[in-house]
Amino acid sequence: MTTQVRAVGAPAEKAPLETMEITRRDVLPEDVRIAVEFCGICHSDIHTVRGDWGDMTYPVVPGHEILGTVTEVGANVTKVKVGDTVGVGCLVKSCGECDYCISGEDHMCSAPGGPLLTYAEPDPYMPGHTTQGGYSQEIVVTERFVFSVPTNLDKAAAAPLMCAGITLYSPLKFWEAGPGKTVGIAGIGGLGHMGIKLAHALGAHTVALTTSPEKGELAKKLGADEVILTTDLDAMKAAAERFDLIISTLPSDHDMDPFLKLLNRGGTYCVVGAVGNATHPFSLVNLMKRKRSISGSMIGSTRETQEMLDFCGKHNITADVELISADQVNEAYERVIAGDVQFRFVIDTATI
Ligand SMILES: [Zn+2]
Ligand SMILES: [Zn+2]
Repeated sequence: MTTQVRAVGAPAEKAPLETMEITRRDVLPEDVRIAVEFCGICHSDIHTVRGDWGDMTYPVVPGHEILGTVTEVGANVTKVKVGDTVGVGCLVKSCGECDYCISGEDHMCSAPGGPLLTYAEPDPYMPGHTTQGGYSQEIVVTERFVFSVPTNLDKAAAAPLMCAGITLYSPLKFWEAGPGKTVGIAGIGGLGHMGIKLAHALGAHTVALTTSPEKGELAKKLGADEVILTTDLDAMKAAAERFDLIISTLPSDHDMDPFLKLLNRGGTYCVVGAVGNATHPFSLVNLMKRKRSISGSMIGSTRETQEMLDFCGKHNITADVELISADQVNEAYERVIAGDVQFRFVIDTATI
């Protein structure tokens, strides 16, 4: 027995998204059924449905910034109950047994195939099906990957916390952004604007690094203590060796050396926005001179995700969003590619 639900997905590579019906499994003892209310549009959704990251089995229903209400729980579920506001992010299963899973870093699960993505992967629960994401009326997810969302947060604006929020929160915590630290956020878009809000709330001196004076002004409103235009060579020179951590959300090719020179002794340049074949040349001497590091981070663990949501509830942090209806998704995709959104589109799934 399964349930048919309405969704918005791509029927084929390069095809526009359209309304379709997809199948959800029945609730297993560890499962939670969620009535999806809002789903953010992440740049990854666009790359995936267009086949930019490899061959896909179509149709694909994307969406991993999922916010909704619990409508049914399996017999063994203890974390949430019917009526709770919950979120689901990029992952829906991990092995639970490897070193990463046991140490609480299940997002890096080392079992064959790694953790199961929320959409566009073979679905182990329904052989012959593909996992389908949150641009849909309903989703069934195992309890471990369902998170409680503080009820003081606006639901639509909280949806992007499930990918953009955790993607920035995890490296900020890992590299100990906080009082006394200077943290740069390079690129002020869907990811970067969350980085500014989170780094500021963590107590770090937060600096927006952008080429755009307009984005710089917006960043100040989001909580940046300072803005440095990376095109202003004098300002970049004056900022040399000031930063403990720079998180780069820059998605396209760029020279890393101007950023590396901003790091102080032992400082880290952490990449979270690199996609596709972007190249980032750098000088080894710039690393050696001050024991600087280049690192990377991808989303975050289940433990960190709940911690991030609780932190956002306490500090009343959500994304800045533009709410759209299901029939505006294709248009929204074009605007995301053009960088024309402040800062995240969220689909009102009641319109599907
Ligand atoms: Zn995402
Ligand atoms: Zn594992």
